[in-house]
Amino acid sequence: MYVELPFDEFKVLPAKQRVAYFYDQDVGNYFYGTGHCMKPHRIRMTHSLIMNYELYKKMEIYRAQPAAKDELTQFHTDEYVDFISRVTPDNLALFEREQTVFNVGDDCPVFDGLYEFCQISCGGSMEGAARLNRGVCDIAINYAGGLHHAKKLEALGFCYMNDIVLGIIELLRVHPRVLYIDTDVHHGDGVEEAFYTNDRVMTASFHKFGEFFPGTGNLNDIGLGKGKYHSVNVPLRDGIDDVLYKSIFEPIIRAIVEWYQPSAIVLQCGGDSLSGDRLGPFNLSMRGHANCVQFVKSFGLPMMVLGGGGYTIRNVARTWAYETGLLNNVVLESEIPYNSYYEYYAPTYELDVRASNMTNANSREYLDKVLLAVLTNLDHTKHAPSVQMNEVPADAEDMFYDRDEDTAEAMDTQGGSQYAKDKLVEPENEFYDGEKDRGERNIHTVDLTAQEMEEIDELNKN
Ligand SMILES: [Zn+2]
Repeated sequence: MYVELPFDEFKVLPAKQRVAYFYDQDVGNYFYGTGHCMKPHRIRMTHSLIMNYELYKKMEIYRAQPAAKDELTQFHTDEYVDFISRVTPDNLALFEREQTVFNVGDDCPVFDGLYEFCQISCGGSMEGAARLNRGVCDIAINYAGGLHHAKKLEALGFCYMNDIVLGIIELLRVHPRVLYIDTDVHHGDGVEEAFYTNDRVMTASFHKFGEFFPGTGNLNDIGLGKGKYHSVNVPLRDGIDDVLYKSIFEPIIRAIVEWYQPSAIVLQCGGDSLSGDRLGPFNLSMRGHANCVQFVKSFGLPMMVLGGGGYTIRNVARTWAYETGLLNNVVLESEIPYNSYYEYYAPTYELDVRASNMTNANSREYLDKVLLAVLTNLDHTKHAPSVQMNEVPADAEDMFYDRDEDTAEAMDTQGGSQYAKDKLVEPENEFYDGEKDRGERNIHTVDLTAQEMEEIDELNKN
């Protein structure tokens, strides 16, 4: 079953897809605390590379409206959102009980501006989804998003609010089926859990499994009820390299796209699956990581590209910049242009992350077994789509939702169906009112900072 695929140089794909890139210049200022691995600064570093490689000429750059409370509660509970919006390092003592209940503390510290940080992360993914829904872009990018561990009422693994789930909920307004792909070294547990009993979202996570955070994502975890066979877990061992990763990633994703026929894809590009990551034990080079982006793009479906983990930040910035190039049909040159964080790329100043000589613990026999199990499960999704293929009717909710699903249990465990959620939010806000459509109302082009303008001017002179 498992066949090793050749790993060729990237070729620029012919079809031009319209790319919308979301960036908020405040995002790099948030700080989890001294010694904490998660550094939002890497998003600013990525942005600086993207600007100095002149990718702003290829794509539209937007600053999203930060997500509002009534948007965050489309997935998270009111109490949890309320807590995150109110807690600060100064008033922490007032929230002793909540800290325990909502799992805020060591891994997920309360830092200055925590709530705004969440609003930025979620706002980008929600507006990216809204623009895809409206057909005004083909690819939406939000590197401040991809925070896949956040649960409905719990912070986990450096994640507080799940921008991915919120983005997918937005996509489900228009798209009958959404595929979520997670290439972070950690299992995409928060997203999987949110849609575990749902057949309108298929989640596929490729991750290190075995004595590794968060501990979930076993091969046998395939979904429940209507969602059975709609959660795909690919547990991997230490040291997986470009060729092996590609050889397991591509046949699985191809099978899902062909059999499940998603009409939109969300790709989480966690950079902790790169070789040399501070937390991740995989051995992917920049090109091995980027191959996932290039492969998913090749299907030509509406696509949302998100960030995620990534703790050797110079390599995360390199890889996300390189991937942004590919999404714009450009293979970026290896010489890193001068930029605000140039010294981070010493001593090579090259746009490259190389694999190391670490041992690969994934045998061909093991990958063969995994591939066979995954494809056998996926076979069940082949002939019985719950939703009509090929057409998206005008009123998706009426067509696609089995309203009997909204049992008390469904409401309790996953917020119930989209229809139920819509019912809940409609009275308070006019989200569906044409004028207040997220994609229309809240978007404006981002203003470059004076420093960025200067850098660009400098580049254009040379
Ligand atoms: Zn991770």
